[in-house]
Amino acid sequence: MVSCDLCSMEGFPIEPGAIFSGNADAEVMIIGQAPGITEVSAKRPFNAGSGHRLFQWLSEAGFNEHAFRQDQYMTAVTKCYPGKNSSGKGDRVPSKQEQRLCRSYLEQELGLVNPRLIIPVGALAIKLFFNRALKLSDVIGKAAYWEDEISDVWPNFSRQSSIMHTSLPNTLPSDGRWIVPLPHPSGASLWPNLPENRQLIERAIGLLGEVRIGLNI
Ligand code: SF4
Repeated sequence: MVSCDLCSMEGFPIEPGAIFSGNADAEVMIIGQAPGITEVSAKRPFNAGSGHRLFQWLSEAGFNEHAFRQDQYMTAVTKCYPGKNSSGKGDRVPSKQEQRLCRSYLEQELGLVNPRLIIPVGALAIKLFFNRALKLSDVIGKAAYWEDEISDVWPNFSRQSSIMHTSLPNTLPSDGRWIVPLPHPSGASLWPNLPENRQLIERAIGLLGEVRIGLNI
């Protein structure tokens, strides 16, 4: 991943150099959209404003940022900085072709780390795991559970909204994998600021906290 230049060779204006962090024994995996320019200079995911907001949410769920960055795994749908979008405001959303080019890395990361809790952050990552037709407001504040190792079922598992939970049992099954999505924490996204969406985020934070405690992470 670090030396990959596939997207540049296909003519996409990325800045090569995959940004990710963590080890294979992590229990939580965060999957974002793609790194921003400050992530490239700092060489760590969710570095600046979006990281501040993300770790504020995670701290409300009981995760400590320093420990999380040290112990857990952070990656993205595409690993290299995609550059600014055509309006110059905000970063370019990686194209479907770039997502396809980078897909095998994500599959290998999921297989190697085999996380017990996956937190897809933002619509691009969420659509990897949930029915693409669902809106953010349909999935934020809910948790999905699979009994099998995620690498065994992803990406071919059933993406049905019926498997999503809004509340969790007192005792969580110890095998299986939980997926709790969050919206993109970038300041460029207005979605988290709407009062009704803030309620959904609070529900998601509550679920994350319950999964963290239930899985003893
Ligand atoms: S985004 Fe992924 S596939 Fe594209 S150059 Fe970077 S590591 Fe390679």
